[in-house]
Amino acid sequence: MDLVFFGIQGSGKGTQAKKLAAEFGYQIFEAGGELRAIAASDTELGQTVKGYIDQGHLVPHEIIMQVVKEAIAARPADQKIIFDGIPRDLEQQADFDSIIAETGRDIQCVQILLDAEDGVQRILGRAKEEGRADDADEAIIRRRMDTFLTKTVPVIENYKAAGKVIEVDGEGSMEDVYGRVISSLAL
Ligand code: AMP
Repeated sequence: MDLVFFGIQGSGKGTQAKKLAAEFGYQIFEAGGELRAIAASDTELGQTVKGYIDQGHLVPHEIIMQVVKEAIAARPADQKIIFDGIPRDLEQQADFDSIIAETGRDIQCVQILLDAEDGVQRILGRAKEEGRADDADEAIIRRRMDTFLTKTVPVIENYKAAGKVIEVDGEGSMEDVYGRVISSLAL
């Protein structure tokens, strides 16, 4: 069973995904990381992608869907995957669900819950460590959060209606949250 991690910016979902992957043999598909790698390449596509990321806007649908499709195809069918940062809007969800079904995979979603203001503070702290332009500017952080609330929350609601979402309290230390993730997934 694959996992799909959801959480507002700063919720720590990426960190939790990495810990879980290391301990339980998942590979991670990190949408933002894949796109940042493309943005770093000296190509026209790289320039285009960088423009969206730096402004805190979602990268166009066709680009991200192509990237995730190729990433799934590149892995053995029995390799468990954690999807971090996709699907992020209803259009991506429709295509993502089709890809999952067509490739014979199955998903369980995990939503890490965190107050938005706590998320802003965590990201501003992280910006200094990781040097990400889109993490250093509070207006851009708030735009990304707004995208999460208006576009991604409806995706989570759909999966909730389908009984596919486990909610985990994201307040507290990384270890505390990880303990909750593990016990809620019954791993
Ligand atoms: P993240 O690392 O998840 O905070 O994502 C950083 C940036 O990458 C986002 O603000 C978007 O510009 C882009 N991005 C990440 N995931 C997606 C996605 N699923 N669809 C479109 N753009 C994305």
